[in-house]
Parts: sequence; structure tokens; C-alpha cells
Amino acid sequence: MKKTGVPEWQPLEQAVPVDLFLAEVKAWAERLGVAPAEIRIQPLKRKWASCSSRGRLTFDTALLRQPAQFRREVIVHELVHLKVPNHGRVFRALLKAYLNLYRNNETPS
Ligand SMILES: [Zn+2]
Repeated sequence: MKKTGVPEWQPLEQAVPVDLFLAEVKAWAERLGVAPAEIRIQPLKRKWASCSSRGRLTFDTALLRQPAQFRREVIVHELVHLKVPNHGRVFRALLKAYLNLYRNNETPS
């Protein structure tokens, strides 16, 4: 997911530790029924995250300091790529559906 139009700085209280972020990614992976081959967190220059053709997800370290809602959008975006490798109609429909589905239901099931 490319970096566009999002402020670099966010209030510190929105920041999460790496462990919590990884738990968030894994929880979403379960909800979507996908299994990432590997999850990495490292500084990325031009993207918030990327998904390799072998199912390895890489997230930008700066994502830990982004608002929870934006972080979730990036996580779900990359996880949906494990189902659909492009940004076509199916991808956009799935992304929207998953984000809407859990918008008002934050409790893990
Ligand atoms: Zn993408």
C-alpha cells in the first residue's frame, strides 16, 4: 500500500508496541481466513506495507505510530492481497466488506 496523503506525525497515545501490532495482524488473518507465510516489520520508504507473491507481508515501522483505524485499513488491505493479488473490483469489494463488517464490532470472537 503506497503512502499518499496521510500525515507522518500522530499523537503518541495512538502508538502500539510491535507485539500488539503482530497480534492485530494475526487476529485479522484469522477473521479473513488467510495465513501469511511470514509477517515482518521494518522501515519502508515509499509504502506502508507490501505483500510478496509468496505470502510474506512487510509492514512499515512507522505504521505503529498511526491511528488505529488507519492501521487496520493497511492490515486488512495487505491480508486481502493473500486472496486477490491485484486492486481490481473483487479486491475493492472484499476490502470494503471486511472493514465494514467489523467497524462496529471491536470485540474479538
Ligand atoms: Zn495493495
